[in-house]
Amino acid sequence: MIIKIENNTNFSTIKSYLESLHLEVHLIHKKNNRYIVISGDERPINMNYLCSIIGNSKIITDFSPYYFSSREFQKEDTIIEVKNFKVGGGNFSYIAGPCTIENENDLIETGRLISKYGATLFRAGAFKPRTSPYNFQGWGREGIKLLHSVGQKLNMPVITEVLNPEDVLWMEPYIDVFQVGTRNMTNTALLKELGKTNKPVLLKRNFAVGIEDWIKAAEFVIVYGNSNVMLCERGIQGVDNYNRFVLDLAAVSAAKQLTHLPVIVDPSHATGRPELIPSMVSAAIVAGADGIIVETHIDPSKMLVPGDGPQALLPHQFNKIVEDNKPLLKLLQKKLCL
Ligand code: PEP
Ligand code: MN
Repeated sequence: MIIKIENNTNFSTIKSYLESLHLEVHLIHKKNNRYIVISGDERPINMNYLCSIIGNSKIITDFSPYYFSSREFQKEDTIIEVKNFKVGGGNFSYIAGPCTIENENDLIETGRLISKYGATLFRAGAFKPRTSPYNFQGWGREGIKLLHSVGQKLNMPVITEVLNPEDVLWMEPYIDVFQVGTRNMTNTALLKELGKTNKPVLLKRNFAVGIEDWIKAAEFVIVYGNSNVMLCERGIQGVDNYNRFVLDLAAVSAAKQLTHLPVIVDPSHATGRPELIPSMVSAAIVAGADGIIVETHIDPSKMLVPGDGPQALLPHQFNKIVEDNKPLLKLLQKKLCL
């Protein structure tokens, strides 16, 4: 149940009543309005009593499962500010960087070049979700600190994946955007914890989950307190393994129609093939994407994450993508953030 609160309503009375019934109560501020969102078993609620204490406030019972993310709730695009650039609402950004933090030199060199070529946000993973326990798992906490210091040196905001809910709070001061990977999109404990931060969250779609469940995962972060969510399409499972996954561009258009959240496309993990990335970037732009996240490395053959090595672009290939797509962005009246 959602209650849209009017000024004369006493929130704490409503909260105490609902909590006495073991319901979870969230207070959400959106577009100059306040809402109470209730999670749990609503059957014990005495509706006559509730109506008597909510005054002029309005109970919303018939709402979509991703009410606050939906276009129905907010027509205009959400614009998320990351340091000095904007994501969404006609702004277009490139996020680039290596799959993994490996060593300071490669990180700085890759970051320096991609920043020069037009990336506004620097990506690199320290906590790597791996299929095999025998592979490199990332540098962890040490890696996050290194990424932070490289970001400072290059004057570039950074994005990195968080795997565990207990890492969210200590990571927050070191990073600019949290990435939720495809394998964790359904981890509601993590989504709830990310709701407690103010840092933007890039929420990758799980490779085996439908569009609306992906948006419901975004709704978790929003209901738990953080409205700064960007969706990211990174490919879903298909029938062959020529491409790593199937880049679902129709899902990008659908997400743009269903929600007001920015949508980012990851053609690296979707295709696993650098030669397909340029055309997928242009296709993603036409599908309505607000940005691209792409893996880049100064020497992909040296990469410590074997599966992701072959898909990384060299910085000059990234540069060509940025240049080649400028006319398309102009045609579509998207402002390229540089
Ligand atoms: C990554 O971005 O390096 C990554 C592991 O992505 P995904 O979660 O989409 O596989
Ligand atoms: Mn990767």
